[in-house]
Amino acid sequence: MTRPSNRTLQQRLSEEVVLGAEGYVFELERRGYVQAGPFVPEVILDEPDALRQLHREFLRAGSDVMVALTYYAHRDKLKAVGRGDDLEEMNRQAVRIANEIAAEGGALVAGNICNTWAYDPKAPEASGAVVRAQYEEQLGWAVEEGVDFVIAETNDYLGEALIGLEVCQELGLPAMVTFASVQASATYDGYDYVEACRILADHGATIVGLNCSRGPETMLPLLEAIRSAVDVAVAAQPVPYRTSPAAPAFESLSSADGMHAFPIALEPFQCTRFEMADFAVRARDIGVNYVGICCGAGPHHVRAMAEALGRATPASRYSPAIELHPVLGTTPRVVGQEELMGGWAAGA
Ligand SMILES: [Zn+2]
Repeated sequence: MTRPSNRTLQQRLSEEVVLGAEGYVFELERRGYVQAGPFVPEVILDEPDALRQLHREFLRAGSDVMVALTYYAHRDKLKAVGRGDDLEEMNRQAVRIANEIAAEGGALVAGNICNTWAYDPKAPEASGAVVRAQYEEQLGWAVEEGVDFVIAETNDYLGEALIGLEVCQELGLPAMVTFASVQASATYDGYDYVEACRILADHGATIVGLNCSRGPETMLPLLEAIRSAVDVAVAAQPVPYRTSPAAPAFESLSSADGMHAFPIALEPFQCTRFEMADFAVRARDIGVNYVGICCGAGPHHVRAMAEALGRATPASRYSPAIELHPVLGTTPRVVGQEELMGGWAAGA
């Protein structure tokens, strides 16, 4: 085992922003390796090279962390798609692959747990025991395969988030615990998101914050409030979609004719790389310590974020040099769409 990394999470957090990249399930669905609906990461065992490649792309784009793709690789979800027998191998293999690619660039490896859908705030004891058993099982394997820390994410309930944190602490692992802020201001068990983060910090979480659901514009105001409420590190991993006050979470985005855009018709709302680069800088400037990106992310977003934070990445070798394009590079005015496409064709 090669963990923990020579440069630990705490060291990196004390020196600079840690850049993360997630959205593996979404991206691998687009690439044809994960089924939308169940979103179970069967790709880990069925097409491991596809997973290796995406890890490598995020690494080349500047991600400091390889997150093991164990999102939704828990007992209930796997049973639902008839792969309950693959549970242990899927979890172990995901962590092994994350380690393998992290070693290519000195990245950290994060174990990953998420909301289980098993937690019931009306029966916190009984349902909490089921959740705890799932987390213990998943993270037990992750520890054996080697992780630097755990990302417990897309939490809807503070109660479930606290169970994830406790299991990390029992295993001696630093925990980054984040909420999916789907609702306007509070978790599904009724805690204001800011207060919920404060409680997690008080219970010893290394990093608290938000991931998924919100895009940059609707996540930033909440992040500022969280930053002023806690003394620990803060994480922000928005989705690269243009959420707005009218639709603060991407789950509620819809097209002009009222069709749901989530989860597989979101392209019209996609943020450009420039918007995500801008987010990275704004998040850093308000004191966010772990800046990342969630569902919908592409390597081009991650590279732009890394470069906006002042870093050169292996993929920066191929960063845009539009001035070298035979037409666009010499056109000092805004061109019409037709002319633009003609220009690209001529340059191709
Ligand atoms: Zn996400």
